[in-house]
Amino acid sequence: MFDYCIAGSGLFGSIFAYEASKRGKKCLIVEKRDSIGGNCYTKTQENINVHLYGAHIFRTSSKAIWDYVRQFADFNHFINSPLANYKGEIYNLPFNMNTFCKLWNISTPKQARDIIESQRKSALKNLKGEPKNLEEQALSLVGSDVYEKFIKGYTQKQWGRECKDLPASIIRRIPVRLTYDNNYFNDPYQGIPKGGYTPIFQKLLSQCEVRLNTDFLAHQEELKSQAKKVLFTGAIDSYFGYKLGALEYRSLHFTHETLEIPNYQGVAVVNFTDEQTPYTRIIEHKHFEFGTQERTIISKEYPQDWDKSKEPYYPINDDKNQALFAKYQELAKSEANVLFGGRLGEYKYYDMQDVIYAALELVKREFAQ
Ligand code: FAD
Ligand code: UDP
Repeated sequence: MFDYCIAGSGLFGSIFAYEASKRGKKCLIVEKRDSIGGNCYTKTQENINVHLYGAHIFRTSSKAIWDYVRQFADFNHFINSPLANYKGEIYNLPFNMNTFCKLWNISTPKQARDIIESQRKSALKNLKGEPKNLEEQALSLVGSDVYEKFIKGYTQKQWGRECKDLPASIIRRIPVRLTYDNNYFNDPYQGIPKGGYTPIFQKLLSQCEVRLNTDFLAHQEELKSQAKKVLFTGAIDSYFGYKLGALEYRSLHFTHETLEIPNYQGVAVVNFTDEQTPYTRIIEHKHFEFGTQERTIISKEYPQDWDKSKEPYYPINDDKNQALFAKYQELAKSEANVLFGGRLGEYKYYDMQDVIYAALELVKREFAQ
């Protein structure tokens, strides 16, 4: 008999498993993939740690989370400074003085502010109150030139919808700065675990029994009978057999190539921001760890529509889906001895630091004296 059966070996399930094991609880992890770590999983090939499910850069504003995660790995000093490739032209991201300088051939913050302000005024003449969608939010933050070159095409590819049909919150993640600063994030703590993410998960799960290639939902009766409680970190609507309808997600398809050259693009991440290029990003993995190997590995990230046969990578947190999620949450409350958590279980656009925080909050509630 187990104390917990945890469906999913991603960050949420693994942090919970680690903390529960530390408290003497016996945990069984069932994972439907053939690897642990969920989307953080890295695989070592050509002596390069490949982020098989997309670039994962750890960052946080919380000293407590930073100290917590560094129990399991040393982090390097990587700072995410991606580039935008717009029809062959290269610009710095996030939107900052380096971007504006190249885009408008200007040099001072005042010049940039004046251009953005005048573009914002003419593009949003009729806007009353707060921006209501991603297009209005982007125009209001950076004006029409930046919107047209770097946001419109990329976002429509990424989400498969027009920017005016997407929530404004998606774009608020990205900093806009009037300084020459290419750090994609504002958080004071940032880095990549030396050796990749998988060793972190091996440590987190070292005290648990792990069953790979096992879909919890296909064996749930048997698994529920073997554990006092279940933590489900897969998609909440899948747990309930989509009985209220499917939540919407965005899926991705990755291709990976080994190249017989040491350096392909000179930076870990390049965003292709035009509408025509079918992929959104090319990742060159060795640059996450300043690699000097003879060969290199690159991955292209193609967004795709989600259906039940595909991986649900991104929740689409618009009003319609939030309302449906709220109904699933109600159902979840009446599900005895089953907890839900993580990006899919809570249907939230969580980054790793958010997942760690949320998992530790659940631990506090679960093991409160
Ligand atoms: P997941 O990692 O999705 O893990 C859930 C696990 O549950 C999966 O392994 C899945 O196979 C398993 N599972 C699902 N259903 C079942 C079932 N029925 N039975 C058994 N197992 C099941 N965050 C950052 O902080 N920085 C980044 O740079 C960053 N980049 C990202 C890039 C991409 C392309 C994506 C998609 C996400 C990125 N994230 C990033 C977010 C990060 O991946 C998540 O915050 C984190 O991985 C979520 O952990 P989780 O455990 O909630 O979910
Ligand atoms: N975005 C964009 N152009 C870019 C990068 C991002 O328009 O070059 C928009 C896009 O809508 C994306 C959102 O900003 O979904 C958040 O970007 P982020 O890089 O945080 O996305 P993630 O890494 O989570 O996919």
